[in-house]
Amino acid sequence: MTDTPLVERLRGFTTTIFSEMSQLATQHDAINLGQGFPDTAGPQEVLDEAVRALRAGRNQYPPGHGIPELRRAIAEHQRTFYDLELDPLREVMVSAGATEAMSAAILALCEVGAEVVALEPSYDCYAGAVAMAGGRFRQVRLHEPTYSLDLAELEAALTPRTRIIIVNSPHNPTGHVLTRDELHGIAELASRHDLIVLTDEVYEHMVFDDHRHIPIATLPGMFDRTVTISSAGKTFSVTGWKIGWLTAPAKFIDAIHTTKQNMTYANGTPFQHGVTAGLGLPPERFRAIGIGYQRLRDILAEGLTEAGFDVHPVGGTFFMMADISPLNFDGDGYEFCRRLPEWTGVAAIPAQVFYGEPQTARNLVRFCFGKRPEVLAEAAARLARICRA
Ligand code: PMP
Ligand code: GLN
Repeated sequence: MTDTPLVERLRGFTTTIFSEMSQLATQHDAINLGQGFPDTAGPQEVLDEAVRALRAGRNQYPPGHGIPELRRAIAEHQRTFYDLELDPLREVMVSAGATEAMSAAILALCEVGAEVVALEPSYDCYAGAVAMAGGRFRQVRLHEPTYSLDLAELEAALTPRTRIIIVNSPHNPTGHVLTRDELHGIAELASRHDLIVLTDEVYEHMVFDDHRHIPIATLPGMFDRTVTISSAGKTFSVTGWKIGWLTAPAKFIDAIHTTKQNMTYANGTPFQHGVTAGLGLPPERFRAIGIGYQRLRDILAEGLTEAGFDVHPVGGTFFMMADISPLNFDGDGYEFCRRLPEWTGVAAIPAQVFYGEPQTARNLVRFCFGKRPEVLAEAAARLARICRA
């Protein structure tokens, strides 16, 4: 037997960078701008409804597809914001966060040996889920500093074995919001090559300036080949609740239910009630989310620039990419982020972990600006004291 009993195809996925950097942050009592989670409470209505449900005894298994009230609320949300008409019973399924939704979808839809193409950099769980499914993960680069997609490069990455394209917009870790042209280009390629699109839209309400979130499922002909994934974690600042959902034609929901029922089956009954209340909040409350985060983005961008980083533009999410080259640090982003908590009292994520070819992103680090203004200002001051020195 080798040193580890872990199956070979998962050996590259043992510790996520988020736990590694959060652990370092705790160890050095640093401001954690690494792992993406907010430091303020979500809407009171959402919290109150979860408490009410819990006290009312809603503590047993929910239905495998999620409580009917939440499925109806998800369908209503898609109609209100995107004009998408969904059957809440057949075309909506609740999951244990977007993470389970993505893993269950990939396990259900990716044949062993099939290829899955994602945007590079990509959120780490995609490659892990493809490895679990026995598929092959390929990436197509978003080009910094604007992180635009070259559609010819996407087309060149497609082979007769490609089965799925994973889209993520607003995009983690770059903050890029895919433009209408980019989305149309992806849609055209998906149609021409008869591919399934898995789209991760967990940051759908965190969009700034004149950027717009366009679900790819709303483009002509795309609903039939698209599985849309979102989550309450970021929208309602409840990342620990792990309530996510999928919306898709019934054939996909049925297929994905097959894997999902063998993973969690179902989860979080009282939280599902809380999220139902959240999705029922008036649209202004959702718009306020983007406005609030835009302000925080500006505070961190200014602070990082002041500290000497070269900050890349951010259209959405609560992440910001920054180039450390101007700092004259002798090492790559990984070494920088490993030293940062002890050195400055701030934690960040080395962006190279999101790249298939990490050496091409050795100068990039990701900061999360989902923190109170005074916390961001303090983090920026700490970075400026050290990095400029
Ligand atoms: N997708 C992306 C792009 C993310 O950044 C995250 C982290 N919130 C997730 C999925 C996971 O979402 P959840 O916590 O709902 O599983
Ligand atoms: N989505 C969060 C991020 O990108 C992390 C979630 C996790 O810890 N797995 O920071």
